[in-house]
Amino acid sequence: MNKNHLTRREFLAAASTGTIVAASGGIAAYANPGKKAGKLAILGGKPVRTKRWPSWPIWDKSAEKPIISVLRSGKWFRGSGTKVSEFEKKYAELMGAKRCLATASGTTALMVALHVLGVDAGDEVIVSPYTFIATYNVVLLAKALPVFADTDPETFQINPDKIEERITKNTRAILPVHILGLPANMDRINAIAKKHNLVVIEDACQAWLAEWRGKKIGTLGDLGCFSFQNSKHLPAGEGGAVVGNDEEIMDRCQSFHNCGRPYGSVKKTSGYPIRGSNSRMQEFQAVILMSQMKRLEKDTARRNENAHYLTSRIKDIPGILPHKLYEGVTRAAYHLYPFRYKKEHFNNIPRSKFLSALSAEGIPCSGGYGPQYKDGLIEEALNSVGYKRLYSRERLKRYRRENHYPDNDQLCKEAVWFSQTLLLGTKRDMDDIADAILKIYENRDKLA
Ligand SMILES: *Cc1c(COP(=O)(O)O)cnc(C)c1O
Repeated sequence: MNKNHLTRREFLAAASTGTIVAASGGIAAYANPGKKAGKLAILGGKPVRTKRWPSWPIWDKSAEKPIISVLRSGKWFRGSGTKVSEFEKKYAELMGAKRCLATASGTTALMVALHVLGVDAGDEVIVSPYTFIATYNVVLLAKALPVFADTDPETFQINPDKIEERITKNTRAILPVHILGLPANMDRINAIAKKHNLVVIEDACQAWLAEWRGKKIGTLGDLGCFSFQNSKHLPAGEGGAVVGNDEEIMDRCQSFHNCGRPYGSVKKTSGYPIRGSNSRMQEFQAVILMSQMKRLEKDTARRNENAHYLTSRIKDIPGILPHKLYEGVTRAAYHLYPFRYKKEHFNNIPRSKFLSALSAEGIPCSGGYGPQYKDGLIEEALNSVGYKRLYSRERLKRYRRENHYPDNDQLCKEAVWFSQTLLLGTKRDMDDIADAILKIYENRDKLA
């Protein structure tokens, strides 16, 4: 019988019938019991792990030829080359979307989507507070108000039960974020959007190849936005994409991202028919992306397999609450692996100390996002000349008054993250993570 694969109940049952010598106090078993012996590394003991974790990005020699060939062609911008268009076709196909627009970054992808779907000055956009700061920024740059709906602490996603109460006559869009690469509840979000006649822009900047009921994340709303920044699963230094199924909307995205030049149904009147930006992707980015695309499926499968195994290993440790996935999730992307740390079960050791102890055992980890709506950027925007001109004093007063998210505040205090690169290893690597957490749990009294 392999101890690694026992659930808590099986373990206790086996231990009580004497088939296992219960050495760990009946909580959860070590995969490598030898490693449990001794002091915590933070107190001078031997770490559970000294082996390095994978670094990122990962590439091979086959990526070099196409880059050099673009360099030597002198066709470095999409207007003179073909690589960006080629990538757009491939990415649309991968997503199961009709169209894809490649952009300079995930931030510019979101800016294009918000503009084309009509998010304008004075509008309100419902956003998850638990996200990378770019999601806040794009709403503020549109001179709209980011109206947050509190977080579901079990899934780390926007809580669908908290969205409707935030809708007003000024609400224009819902901007759900599939944060950490775990899908938000798209059935509920789309139903609310339909009922209130709102557009849905998915921030899928961490969710490549994630799925909701078998459909790719990013294709469930009106438009979906992706990032290809260096740390992302499909990296090209910088880069992004908008995907969608509506030809006319996608034509407008193409036109807007290219200085407002005519494109498809955006017809020439005289010169430039609409306003625009320059959010174009370079040819170099596109060839890197096409070579990185070759590993995405395999990496995603590996991350999922390891994440599920890690969950099975840590879920019975008291005070460790692994994230949950909604019932509609058929696949996650796992840009990060999150769980909640409940210090009550760890002799009240603060999370910061738990993180230091875990890092010392050779397991890199972080506490993730803080409550960023309390940072200066919201006030900086609200106090700007433009916002004061656009919004009444009364409206900004109400906005400030309602800007409280207790569930998210709590989550920001309890979250622990592992980066996606940890999930690229083997099952034994996951065992190291679980063993290190267990070691800290069992030595919790020595950390006080
Ligand atoms: C990375 C990211 C973005 C922005 O993408 P960039 O390519 O860095 O501009 C937006 N939203 C989320 C959730 C992200 O993780």
